[in-house]
Amino acid sequence: MISKAKRVSDYKQLTKQLPSVRYVDPEFVYLTLMNNRCTDYTLEVEEGDSVKVGEILGEKCGSFFETPVYSTVSGTVEGVVKKLDQNGLEVDCLKIRNNFKDETHESITDRPDAFIKAMSKEDIVDIVKEKALVGLGGAAFPSYIKLNTDEAIHTVVINAVECEPYLSSDYRLIMDQPEQIFKGLIYIMQTVSAPKGVIAVKKTKKALIEVLERECERYKDYDIKIAKVKDYYPQGWENATFKEAVGIKVPVGELPMKYGLLGFNVSTCASIYEAIKHNMPITKRYLTINGDAVNFPQDIRVRVGTSIRELIKLCDGYKEDINKLEVIIGGPMMGVALPSDDAIVTETTTSVLILKSTEYKEEPCVRCGSCVYSCPVDITPVSIMNAVKRNDKKSVELLEANKCIECGLCAYVCTSKIHVTDYVRKGKNLIG
Ligand code: SF4
Ligand code: SF4
Repeated sequence: MISKAKRVSDYKQLTKQLPSVRYVDPEFVYLTLMNNRCTDYTLEVEEGDSVKVGEILGEKCGSFFETPVYSTVSGTVEGVVKKLDQNGLEVDCLKIRNNFKDETHESITDRPDAFIKAMSKEDIVDIVKEKALVGLGGAAFPSYIKLNTDEAIHTVVINAVECEPYLSSDYRLIMDQPEQIFKGLIYIMQTVSAPKGVIAVKKTKKALIEVLERECERYKDYDIKIAKVKDYYPQGWENATFKEAVGIKVPVGELPMKYGLLGFNVSTCASIYEAIKHNMPITKRYLTINGDAVNFPQDIRVRVGTSIRELIKLCDGYKEDINKLEVIIGGPMMGVALPSDDAIVTETTTSVLILKSTEYKEEPCVRCGSCVYSCPVDITPVSIMNAVKRNDKKSVELLEANKCIECGLCAYVCTSKIHVTDYVRKGKNLIG
């Protein structure tokens, strides 16, 4: 078996010190028409149609969600093709040939600051819904649902912790665009009438803290603080961030809104700024290309829909034959291994890791308890694994497998190199 959780040396150092590269003019983009919430779609365009940046091309449809699909380049519709998405699933994508003119759709217009200040909660929630904004840290939860909370929110927490090894795309976003982060946070505070804002960042990230504190000086009229949190995994897990950044412990399984807290990933915060200020959906994002098997790891600002193969070429390609490597979307702890590199960047693609394959032979469980001690949500991974092996649904339920946040720590620490997380994930599926 191959364990992707075993290669966690601090490759962030390779990318975060470098200026981010812009690669915003691919010849084609491939826009996903389906995802795990929406398994069907409708199209408003056909082959040969001309489209512009920010234009609605169709709609992803599911039982509870309908999400517009926006063009991320201007150009011509070429048709529907299959590509791998961020979950490694082959999905239908709309292929657009870029005309390199970057023409924006008529709907993309700036809102004056005074106009934004007068906007109601409903106005902002409607825009965020219409622009199909989702959590960009990987969860892809619709942002408008969070913003539409009826609970009294006292603090909005922006999560800039980025605790997974190898990833530095949020780091580069903050270094390049701190103003967008603060303005996005202020828009969120306005929406939910929150008096306080907190940006949580690892205390070891000195350069980042300097940039954020300098920016904080510009927004003295607002109660915004930078919270410097510990540097460990999984500090970026929302509950851990809340506890460390604002001192409030949100029990696993409960909504933070009940405790007066609302959390957003830092990239999501920037996307809210773009939607409210410029009426722009998510057309570009930062992502990290990293790992021990890519020649030139770096952070890149790309169009959503860009081919990952093309980005690997931009990083001077693979060090070895691709068939001997692992391609992972996301971090090494929580990411998904892809069956091939014929994948595309979606709104939630934080990183692509190219790792040398290492075979790990699983040994029998030695009942060392390491997985139990390391679990951040205090469940017993080894017991869940054993219940899953027995197909014992009742026990899996009693052992609260549903609380698992899939952080990957139980597999990482396992003395016997067992993929414990995979078993717990199976347990979650077993109990629905
Ligand atoms: S992946 Fe393992 S360690 Fe992490 S929350 Fe789930 S059971 Fe606990
Ligand atoms: S860490 Fe591995 S070997 Fe130790 S108890 Fe858990 S599953 Fe068994």
